[in-house]
Amino acid sequence: RFFIEHPPTGAEVTFDEAESQHLAKVMRANVGDMVVGFDGKGMEYQIELTSVGKKKVVGSVRSQAEVSREASRRLTLAVALPKGDRQRWLVEKCVELGVARLIPLLTKRGVAQPVEKAIERLRRTVVEASKQCERNHLMAVDEGQTLEKVLASRPAASFLLHPSGEAIHHDAVVPASDVLALVGPEGGFTDEEVAEAAEHGCQIVSLGPRILRVETAALAMATLVTTVPGP
Ligand code: SAM
Repeated sequence: RFFIEHPPTGAEVTFDEAESQHLAKVMRANVGDMVVGFDGKGMEYQIELTSVGKKKVVGSVRSQAEVSREASRRLTLAVALPKGDRQRWLVEKCVELGVARLIPLLTKRGVAQPVEKAIERLRRTVVEASKQCERNHLMAVDEGQTLEKVLASRPAASFLLHPSGEAIHHDAVVPASDVLALVGPEGGFTDEEVAEAAEHGCQIVSLGPRILRVETAALAMATLVTTVPGP
């Protein structure tokens, strides 16, 4: 599977340099080979390679279809991101589980304030993970946002994950097509942040009596929300 950033004009597709090198050097592709391309917006293409150079591979679209492998409902995760490799790992797993949008959440006790370069790296991870798990829509990765900003445009079904919240009930998720979940940093949300979210109508919920790491809490919530049958 190969990512096509610019959808084909007519039948011809030119792969970008990175994908061309991958095709030519790693996959040792030849003229006449069939490959699958996706544009990150839902379209999937069957492509026959017509020219294979080390830096430029060209193909011809033989068929195309809109193929959705999205989850049963749209989940936005706003997460106070952990550092380094844990951040990249979290993004990869969110893509696999079908999270629609990830917002790096800026909190009082947060450790990683994502800069532009880090966001770009995470967006590249989204493409790589989508290739691997055959997802055709790219998960959006936003710039960092404050709690206030995230709460300002929250959907009706919004949850702040907190070890001392009320046990989460699947029924709270079932009717919603759009869900927001907020996950705090290693040091946890402050009492003021929890109160602010509650005032804006967020449910303060727990995922059980153990303290989960940031990634575990985010992925447990993602599993719950994306696998409960759709509304
Ligand atoms: N001592 C911190 C506290 O009390 O919030 C622990 C923070 S925990 C390492 C990081 C984040 O994961 C929390 O802010 C929360 O959003 C989420 N989390 C961890 N365990 C959880 C649980 N059992 N239920 C719900 N959310 C949890």
